[in-house]
Amino acid sequence: MMRQYELVERVLRYDPKADEALLNRAYVYAMKAHGNQKRASGDPYFSHPLEVAAILTDLKLDDATIVTALLHDVIEDTPVTRAEIDQLFGPEIGHLVDGLTKIRRLDLVSKKAEQAENFRKLLVAISSDIRVLLVKLADRLHNMRTLEHMKPESRQRISEETLDIYAPLAARMGMEKLREELEDHAFRWLHPEAYRAVTAKLAELRKSNEGLVEEIRAALAAKLAEVGIDAEVSGREKKPYAIWRKMANKQISLEQLSDIYAFRVITKSIDDCYRVLGVAHTTWRTVPGRFKDYISTPKQNNYQSIHTTIVGPRHQRVELQIRTRVMHDIAEYGVAAHAIYKDGGLNGHVLARTPGEFEKDSGPYVWLRRLVETLLEGSNSEEFLEHTKLELFQDQVFCFTPKGRLIALPRGATPLDFAYAVHTDIGNAAVGAFVNGRHVPIDTVLRNGDEVEIETAKNHTPPAAWENLVVTGRARSAIRRAARDAVRKQYTELGRRLIASHFERFGEELTDDALKAALPRLGYKSLEDALAAVGRNELAIENVLKAALPDAVESKAPSRPGYRRTRRFGRARGQDGWFNIDRVMSLKFRSGDNEPKAGGLAIRGINSDLPVSFEPGGAVPGDRIVGVMIPGEGIRIFQIHSPRLREYEHEGWIDVTWDVDTDTPQRFPARISVTALNEPGTLAQIAKVIGESGGNIDNVRMVRRASDFTEMRIELEVLDLVHLNHIISGLREKAVVNKVERVFD
Ligand code: MN
Repeated sequence: MMRQYELVERVLRYDPKADEALLNRAYVYAMKAHGNQKRASGDPYFSHPLEVAAILTDLKLDDATIVTALLHDVIEDTPVTRAEIDQLFGPEIGHLVDGLTKIRRLDLVSKKAEQAENFRKLLVAISSDIRVLLVKLADRLHNMRTLEHMKPESRQRISEETLDIYAPLAARMGMEKLREELEDHAFRWLHPEAYRAVTAKLAELRKSNEGLVEEIRAALAAKLAEVGIDAEVSGREKKPYAIWRKMANKQISLEQLSDIYAFRVITKSIDDCYRVLGVAHTTWRTVPGRFKDYISTPKQNNYQSIHTTIVGPRHQRVELQIRTRVMHDIAEYGVAAHAIYKDGGLNGHVLARTPGEFEKDSGPYVWLRRLVETLLEGSNSEEFLEHTKLELFQDQVFCFTPKGRLIALPRGATPLDFAYAVHTDIGNAAVGAFVNGRHVPIDTVLRNGDEVEIETAKNHTPPAAWENLVVTGRARSAIRRAARDAVRKQYTELGRRLIASHFERFGEELTDDALKAALPRLGYKSLEDALAAVGRNELAIENVLKAALPDAVESKAPSRPGYRRTRRFGRARGQDGWFNIDRVMSLKFRSGDNEPKAGGLAIRGINSDLPVSFEPGGAVPGDRIVGVMIPGEGIRIFQIHSPRLREYEHEGWIDVTWDVDTDTPQRFPARISVTALNEPGTLAQIAKVIGESGGNIDNVRMVRRASDFTEMRIELEVLDLVHLNHIISGLREKAVVNKVERVFD
């Protein structure tokens, strides 16, 4: 196991300004945190984060990344918390370690190939910092290197994941070397026989071609020296997985596979690259269709190189890759290579598309931050990695359930969308949300990596207006459906109660069977349809009664006095103007009766099971109230003294009574007019009285302002009449208050 000082020295060698104390602290802290934990191999667990850190020192990464590597498993595997990391190592490292923890907690249930792309997107999106991905890739590399200690099922799963997700991710990030190693490890465990065959064949070829690579290399080098080009030439065998994939793609056998050797020519300048190409093409025969110039047209991951295939000195097909040193480092180490050039050593000529790109920034590791910006937000065409598919992720956000399940949503999605994405039932019951542990409005726009917890309430129905708080079609249609169902249920219930009260007056009890029998005569197919039609005022109760109780209706008039059934046609003035009222089916309000009578419709409140709304002047439990059927709205409740009630004819009034559930107190709207002295602090005193009495102020409006007195209209929410009267008398006691009155307009 690497010693503490060895690790620190490694980092200091490439970054003399690295925070030595920080590295030392992290080493000791992680070692203690993992304590006696062991890996499957029997090694101390700490050897793993340490190796991961070592891999990242090869990539010459900054001290924060190395520290993150050391700490990357502590939150998940030990009692250490994010808060503790923040406190000891600062929020930057806390954030990085947290990113790795989130990746580990991902719901990996679905590992099918079509999920892999999403998963890669997610990794990038939630990492929010490229260093998280670099640590994750190094973590995976070390796990792949030590995979033999795992159970066969785990090996299979981890290898598939590596091939589907992590190797392509490394490729996207331009880290060719890392990708090759990941692929070869995965290949070994997923296709052991093919792996053995390919490696055996390679060994055989190596033997029979003894000295071939060196011979070709020397010939190339000699030719270049002859024309005065200063370049390094190296030859290598292709990797087993790359060979196998080529065989599979082209359906050829290992014997037919000609270009298992690849040669690299590393030059000092772009000009030299093209000179080398010229020499190669004039000296040896070229293989047609194999020439590619990725210098003038770099690959999406910023890879730059010239590729060509020649027929070499021993009539062997030889693949040539010609590139500059910087291009080479970028090809091998991808995004990590930029760290090597962080001091501005990267010259304009190297990345031809973006000259001087790195020079204009100062400070180390700026590239890291900028790359992340580009990966996640970037739209500037000059930006690095501009064309990578990664930027497609911009239209998505990835969030988590508290258990770590991943929910992908379109950008702009809210906790309400999230709730519906988890389950329609959760969406329908959603009343609030916590994002990252904080209570937020349900229409908060979610961000990548947010952990979302939905607060639900039983028997809740999403208000129809919530349709405007969501961006997903799924949520929108579910809200519409739920709102429609709820309204229908309310009308059904209203219809049922209206019919029941009429039955009662005929001395009959309302049963579903009695109504069902009458359905054909009424022209309705289902009981609910008929009830809802009555509730909506589309089906006259008389008709229902005639159909369901023909004998009773024929033989006797309604038994209870004081009610008059009327049938009216006409118009009534409502809040929003004139409504056409085809028919107002009503029970006449019995003035002079203080006690609500049985048979009146019981009103619970706004979220009741009936289509109930309150006249803006308000009504509170304890008030005497009257209902009026408003077409398209249901029943509107008026306080008996409300002047607006007079706009509806007595015959249209419906007998309603309060039926407030004291277990779940609700608030009801009321308005008061307060005339008070026009002096500083008056409003504060008034607000204090209301607040201390537990009233909610919805709105305050100055109605009249004279030099000495101000009249204001206060809209309140109170529990009931006692509560309201308590507030009114409390206000009257104040010296600054001249007059308090309940008002209805
Ligand atoms: Mn790990």
